Amino acid sequence: MSIRCVGIVGAGTMGQGVAVACASVSLDVLLKDVSSQACAASIADIGQSLDRDIAKWRRTESEKRAILARIHAVARMSEIEAANIVVECVPEDLDLKTRIFQELDAVCPPEDVLATNTSALSVTEIATRTRRPDRIIGLHFQAPVPLVPLVEVVRGLATSEATLRTALDFVRVLGKTGVEVFEYPGYVTTRVIVPFLNEAMHVVMEGVATAEAVDTSMKLGYGLPVGPLALADRMGLDEVMRWMQYLFDELGDLKYRPCPLLRKMIRAGHLGVKSGRGFFVYPGGPASATP
Ligand code: NAD
Repeated sequence: MSIRCVGIVGAGTMGQGVAVACASVSLDVLLKDVSSQACAASIADIGQSLDRDIAKWRRTESEKRAILARIHAVARMSEIEAANIVVECVPEDLDLKTRIFQELDAVCPPEDVLATNTSALSVTEIATRTRRPDRIIGLHFQAPVPLVPLVEVVRGLATSEATLRTALDFVRVLGKTGVEVFEYPGYVTTRVIVPFLNEAMHVVMEGVATAEAVDTSMKLGYGLPVGPLALADRMGLDEVMRWMQYLFDELGDLKYRPCPLLRKMIRAGHLGVKSGRGFFVYPGGPASATP
């Protein structure tokens, strides 16, 4: 199948990143969020993030214009029908994602592949609530999507070989490496990173070291480009907590139990970069956190 147009449902951190990654390789994008205003705000955010790229000499002004010209906000789900593949990027909530997939299943041609960007939830469970379980797959992009070259391509129990091939081809068109993964809670990346982030949070909570000291130790000690707490801030502390809670509920292993400090910070509205404060403070908004 030749992919010319990509539908994206959910225009937050990940949806915006996937939109830019697609538009950068000349694919048209149909972007849907909860309202036209939310979509307009997301497209404005995309413009600002492209401006930051220009300031860092990563893109030119004309590339920015070309990217924005390919991203079209849509008001109704039925308009997504024109896409050849859809990537769902709404928050990590199984009921919400299932509802979105049922809506997509109703409006998209039966041959279309519908992908979820879930970080941990069951692709199989989402798929079984549609009439095309063989055409449902996980495409687990990582943030910031335009910069991270990896996509976990997650097969549910019913995902067909043809769907897998389409998904891998799509990832290749985006210039990224697709790693095939069989569904299991948290796949590879979420499952491995979550205990690491959780442990770093426990170190801060137990007063062993400050957030700054933890991140400096892990960066310099292990040659990491970013420390665990700054990484959690970028991912969004509410999202990180949902992944931990899901892994804990599914697997019952204490290593996934969310750190109480994380719960406390979320209750205080400290969600990381997106709220301006998490383990660190971001006075300049996302600009002060982008690599
Ligand atoms: P986010 O909160 O930044 O964005 C979610 C967007 O979905 C918001 O714009 C919201 O308005 C929109 N939305 C909510 N309900 C909707 C609906 N009914 N219809 C259309 N849009 C709706 O979340 P995010 O960080 O972009 O995460 C999205 C997904 O990507 C989650 O499943 C998350 O686990 C996954 N993910 C996140 C990261 C990360 O680092 N943040 C990395 C990999 C995967």
